[in-house]
Amino acid sequence: MSGAGLRVGVLSLQGDVRENVEAAEAALESEAGGNGAVAEAASPGEIAGSDCLVIPGGESTAIGGMSLVSGAAAAVRERAGAGAPILGICAGLILLSRGASDRTVGATGQPLLDVLDVRVERNSFGRQRQSFEADVSMEPCGIPSTRGVFIRAPSVSEAGPGVEVLARHGGRIVAVRQGAVIGTAFHPELAGDLALYRHFIGGAAAARDGRRQR
Ligand code: GLN
Repeated sequence: MSGAGLRVGVLSLQGDVRENVEAAEAALESEAGGNGAVAEAASPGEIAGSDCLVIPGGESTAIGGMSLVSGAAAAVRERAGAGAPILGICAGLILLSRGASDRTVGATGQPLLDVLDVRVERNSFGRQRQSFEADVSMEPCGIPSTRGVFIRAPSVSEAGPGVEVLARHGGRIVAVRQGAVIGTAFHPELAGDLALYRHFIGGAAAARDGRRQR
């Protein structure tokens, strides 16, 4: 039996929280027969009570600043250290990185979680007006092609030896994985193609069931 099911937390300090809750609910339904629940997570207790976490896109400086003050930053790092699956999207990828600079303004000095051994370039594809959709291949995840939305998207400018590149676009790295943590420069929740979401939630459900059987 799969018991109480997978608890999916969506970090809800700022950004497109509702779209990610809906995407996670749809993926939970298709990958785990709805066995679990998706909840917004903002407090350290709500984060600690999540089996896996999604960090939505938004504004990384805002999410980072608020998470430091609220204790969410430490709670997310604790979950990462415990091996919990985490999906960081756009601003979420930036937040999980160990270093960030902006394509036009340079070093940002913003608070970062240092969970992924990567440096990122913010606004790597231009500003809001240059937002676009593109098909992205994520072969290491078994996803030949998925639709991503790039909104003031970053790219990964440096990746450490333990970091696997999952996808590139226009010669730049736009998705990475390190252990159970996945970061994407694009939004997988906005294009109506939930392949990556299903991969993430399905993997988290399998990891949780595996842990319970051990
Ligand atoms: N450019 C934003 C940042 O640096 C991220 C944009 C997004 O999450 N869609 O925080």
